[in-house]
Amino acid sequence: MIDQCGRNIDYVRISVTDRCNLRCVYCMPEDGVKNTPHEEILRYDEILRVCRIMAGLGISKIKLTGGEPLVRKDVPYLVRELKQISGIEKVTLTTNGILLTEYMKDLHAAGINGINISLDTMNPALFREITRRDMLDHVKCGIEAAMRYRDVPLKINCVPMGMEGQDLMEIAALAGEHPVHVRFIEMMPIGYGKKFKFIGEDEIVGQLRAAFGEVTPCMDKLGNGPGHYYTVEQLTGKIGFISAISHKFCNECNRIRMTSQGFLKSCLQYETGRDLRTLLRTGADDGDIEAAIREVVLKKPTGHEFLAEQISEEESHCMAQIGG
Ligand code: SAM
Ligand code: SF4
Repeated sequence: MIDQCGRNIDYVRISVTDRCNLRCVYCMPEDGVKNTPHEEILRYDEILRVCRIMAGLGISKIKLTGGEPLVRKDVPYLVRELKQISGIEKVTLTTNGILLTEYMKDLHAAGINGINISLDTMNPALFREITRRDMLDHVKCGIEAAMRYRDVPLKINCVPMGMEGQDLMEIAALAGEHPVHVRFIEMMPIGYGKKFKFIGEDEIVGQLRAAFGEVTPCMDKLGNGPGHYYTVEQLTGKIGFISAISHKFCNECNRIRMTSQGFLKSCLQYETGRDLRTLLRTGADDGDIEAAIREVVLKKPTGHEFLAEQISEEESHCMAQIGG
């Protein structure tokens, strides 16, 4: 699917739930998001139907996200079924890692192609402050469990927040100790993220140089998304950046997003899109659903306007509801 800017849209992020076992301050309110009744969440058979149609239109990569995707039952089953769809080349997962110890074996058996684990600090007290839960050890165990499967590429994602005590180099050092890439994701001014300042890539590159030696841009394309990477002298894994603000990448954006309620969005920042759930549940045929998907892709905005003072149709949901 080629959009109006000539971008080839081949990647969908699918949120399977908006619930989560953490409450990260930049993502969710303290009490969590209002529980969506089960019947309003797409069933797995509905997600699979949409994905079959999308695959026919040229989507080849799927990322499962949430909320926390692993709090939904039977995610490995969904992975296995998605992998059976002709045209789907990669199914990956983004998780906070809390439940990975429990699910890694089944995810691997289901054929997962990659896992991103979100981790913003190695400091237990700060972890508690950021996530409002005392569960850093669970995440560390989850990372260890994932590392036992060498054929599943692993990335650690960290959102620099400018909070006192957030030692980004301690997170970067994980790429020295383990065969993982570490990526820094700039804070986006969406929902609760608006309250935090973003720390730019250039500042972090300076810190990397001081801590680990020479930092050299890496030309290899790693992963499906807009990240770009550096080789750092004393680290084995690469250090990546997803810098939506300081190095805007909208001209290369290849993705669409579907919320757990089946709302298909073409850009993180805007609320516009199509409600596929209603189509799925009112007898629409595959052609109707295909037309709705094409319409969303065709209307994909040229780019975000995060730095604009006022924008129309701005997204009002929090990140956990959109899927990040
Ligand atoms: N619970 C899973 C996790 O944390 O990986 C998946 C969902 S979470 C919404 C996906 C990603 O979005 C996480 O890496 C999280 O750090 C990131 N995120 C949430 N709010 C953000 C914001 N305002 N700016 C940048 N990244 C954000
Ligand atoms: Fe949950 Fe992920 Fe949001 Fe943290 S970032 S509250 S782990 S959905």
